[in-house]
Amino acid sequence: MERKKLVIIGSGPAAYTAAIYAARANLHPFVYEGFFSGPAGGQLMTTTEVENFPGFPEGITGPDLMDRFRKQAERFGTTIVTEDVVSVDLSKRPFLVKGSTTTVLADSLIIATGATAKRLDIPGTLDGEFWQKGVTACAVCDGAAPIFRNKDLYVVGGGDSAVEEAIFLTKYGSKVYIVHRRDQLRASKIMCERAQHHPKIEILWNTAPVKVEGESVLSSVTLKDIPSGKETTYPAGGLFFAIGHQPNTTFLSGQVELLDNGYIKVIGNSTRTNVEGVFAAGDVQDHIYRQAVSAAGSGCMAALDAERWLSHEGLA
Ligand SMILES: Cc1cc2nc3c(=O)[nH]c(=O)nc-3n(C[C@H](O)[C@H](O)[C@H](O)COP(=O)(O)OP(=O)(O)OC[C@H]3O[C@@H](n4cnc5c(N)ncnc54)[C@H](O)[C@@H]3O)c2cc1C
Repeated sequence: MERKKLVIIGSGPAAYTAAIYAARANLHPFVYEGFFSGPAGGQLMTTTEVENFPGFPEGITGPDLMDRFRKQAERFGTTIVTEDVVSVDLSKRPFLVKGSTTTVLADSLIIATGATAKRLDIPGTLDGEFWQKGVTACAVCDGAAPIFRNKDLYVVGGGDSAVEEAIFLTKYGSKVYIVHRRDQLRASKIMCERAQHHPKIEILWNTAPVKVEGESVLSSVTLKDIPSGKETTYPAGGLFFAIGHQPNTTFLSGQVELLDNGYIKVIGNSTRTNVEGVFAAGDVQDHIYRQAVSAAGSGCMAALDAERWLSHEGLA
């Protein structure tokens, strides 16, 4: 079985940045970029324009940006295989990493498998319908797009992130509605107060979205009043899901310590996990920032942490 100095699992900004740094440090990184687990290239493969990634003043599409990341990783000698990691054995070193068709041994491991934004399965919101044409799961990423300007915007959710996203969107929308299926928010008291006192925010209690419609972009949302079952259609410029993220950690089978919310726990300001030689980068360990540039930054940190650890162990 082949033994690698560094195996990287994932393929978003964090994984490819880790690969760029590790390849330039002669660690010959071996990347499992995924296949069924999510689009190889990560979450940005599902978006159109990325306007906040530094270095691209005119903006760049998500797929083009990730293609550049990937090419840069390959340029310095990264090996990339397009398959999922199905399991790992971290109980002894070198670690055993099982892909869907290959198995390798790894002296060190970087986990950069990202997180998946949760979406409701509502007619009109799917890929190929109005997803990214008015429907999204990231207000910070997409809120400034012209299609949302001066329109009524709907945020689905009831936690802190739903309120944060709603407040953020008040900069762009004419009015922002928080659509919540219960009669009180799960958000912290201070966030609830902010939402309730904000002149541009209205909370629609006991309400659920039923469908969205439009022509080239979304133009209406149909909401159901849960107690009465009555459905009403309203004009809308955007629907933002803010119902949480699912970090992609199933293949770890509990071998790496997680936080209560399911994200990988890293030690202090590093990318080290509780397993020596295993590092985590990007959204799989970041429930706060969740941006491409912060994921890339932590990918860089993970490669540097791994390189230092390998040197210390005499394995670099
Ligand atoms: C619709 C949308 C628009 C966004 N727009 C922006 C934006 O404009 N600007 C911005 O900064 N951020 C944006 N974001 C957020 C940004 O995409 C994420 O913060 C960033 O992609 C996280 O990068 P990551 O490297 O941690 O992992 P991800 O991008 O989540 O990629 C992880 C990838 O790892 C792979 N993987 C998962 N499990 C396995 C496995 N078991 N084996 C092998 N591979 C696996 C999959 O291919 C998965 O896609 C957006 C997000 C979404 C959903």
